Amino acid sequence: MSLASGPSTGAAGMNEAKREAALAAFAGVLDASGIVGGSSADAARYLGDWTGDYAGAALAVLRPAAVEQVQAVVRLCAKHGIAIVPQGGNTGLVAGTISDGTRPAVILSLERLNRIRRIDAANFTLQADAGVVLQTLKDAAEAENMLFPLALGAQGSCQIGGNVATNAGGINVLRYGMTRDLVLGLEAVLPDGSLWQGMTGLRKDNRGYDLRQLLIGSEGTLGIVTGVEVKLFPRPANIETAYLGARSFADAMALFGLARRVCSDLLTAFEVIGAECIPLAVLSNPGTRVPLAEAWPVHIVLELACSAAIDGRALLETLLAEAFEAGLLGDGAIAQSRAQAQAFWAIREDLVEGQAKRGMHIRTDLSVRLSDVPRLIDEARAYVTAEWPDWEPIAYGHAGDGNIHFNVMPPLGLAPERIRQDGKRLLQGLYGIARDLGGSFSAEHGVGRSRRDVFLDGLSPNQRAAVLALKAAFDPKGIMNPGCLVPG
Ligand SMILES: Cc1cc2nc3c(=O)[nH]c(=O)nc-3n(C[C@H](O)[C@H](O)[C@H](O)COP(=O)(O)OP(=O)(O)OC[C@H]3O[C@@H](n4cnc5c(N)ncnc54)[C@H](O)[C@@H]3O)c2cc1C
Repeated sequence: MSLASGPSTGAAGMNEAKREAALAAFAGVLDASGIVGGSSADAARYLGDWTGDYAGAALAVLRPAAVEQVQAVVRLCAKHGIAIVPQGGNTGLVAGTISDGTRPAVILSLERLNRIRRIDAANFTLQADAGVVLQTLKDAAEAENMLFPLALGAQGSCQIGGNVATNAGGINVLRYGMTRDLVLGLEAVLPDGSLWQGMTGLRKDNRGYDLRQLLIGSEGTLGIVTGVEVKLFPRPANIETAYLGARSFADAMALFGLARRVCSDLLTAFEVIGAECIPLAVLSNPGTRVPLAEAWPVHIVLELACSAAIDGRALLETLLAEAFEAGLLGDGAIAQSRAQAQAFWAIREDLVEGQAKRGMHIRTDLSVRLSDVPRLIDEARAYVTAEWPDWEPIAYGHAGDGNIHFNVMPPLGLAPERIRQDGKRLLQGLYGIARDLGGSFSAEHGVGRSRRDVFLDGLSPNQRAAVLALKAAFDPKGIMNPGCLVPG
């Protein structure tokens, strides 16, 4: 899907002399590897996104290597009226990093701002540049026998700054919360180029408005995150993982309730996978082996984690015995090693890769109250079956957070333009089902450009006024990621 309608230089509305002047000014504040020309082959990977559904255009890709360089670039953009599209690992799924080519714009990649700054073991915190890849940050914490619990399929590529900008969720939210709950300090360059320093590392700080929380989840529309201080946790000594089969999503959610009661806060993950997703995992990894003796309509990956003083295995066995007794489970396997646990998790991760491999499809990221999860899936399936009989619905997700990815695969071979057109209508139906249940169309992936209209349409007049007033107060020139979240 192309969002770009301007010239391929990404300099729409800019004459050649102005364009050259702007590029020369950027060259004056960045080193040679800090600038990639917008029309060069090297720029291609920054202009599209992970889904491959979008292609954009930019005057240049800027890669500052120091916070002062970010500030200098922002000041120049403000002076020349050039839009800035911040980019982390470019794994976002809502076109937040795509410059749509309708006005002069640069992509500002944080990838060279990639230092772990400091681990404060006594404060249980870690400070990092925004461009540190999430997996690198997790490894640095682990090297100190600590845990940074944010965990998602894209962790080998996404950056901590991008996680902050999207308020990322992932598989451990039910125990540790969203990124919002994990950040104790931020540093950000504001749209006038000034540096806001909020790396306090404080757990309690009630001094008025919380700028940190405003920036978290703002998707690059209010400022550029350059530094992050995150909470660390003791690294659990015991991790127990089970792969389970259930008759229905209703049984799976009843099992979740039981697991919460039996394991309390030791439960770290509760993921559901509709059996229809398994062929997608196989498509991505033909060696996929489901550890269930029979076919079950709903698969569950459940994990709990605790210190060495607690017998996690006994707790898990107690839970499973109660669940079998209550008729909530048909079959299940407990991982006997970390390698086996990883193989269980791989099924959940591979299905996401498999969908992308199958081709363009319709993605959602819905959330409802936990008690409404089975109803959401039943109603969405009934809707697709009745109105889009040739399309294949699949459901999986972070059910312990009420977050379901209800995705729909078009008939193989359907032209991309038809998928886009029909997909738009199909999505409206799915969003309507979530809305009628009091849910959200965006549990964790954000709004970006692809969901901006549904976001704005769903706001009450006073919410809308507040959102636009905030944007105008932070970014009066409208240079920060225009068109993302709010109109550009
Ligand atoms: C396979 C796969 C699995 C995923 N699983 C999950 C999941 O379980 N949970 C989840 O929440 N998400 C998930 N995602 C989505 C994505 O990984 C997250 O949204 C992630 O937080 C994006 O980080 P990023 O560094 O790639 O950001 P990008 O994609 O580069 O950017 C995302 C947004 O943040 C802005 N931005 C990026 N960096 C900065 C910065 N330093 N300052 C200001 N703005 C910035 C961008 O302008 C854009 O609007 C998944 C994606 C993939 C591909």
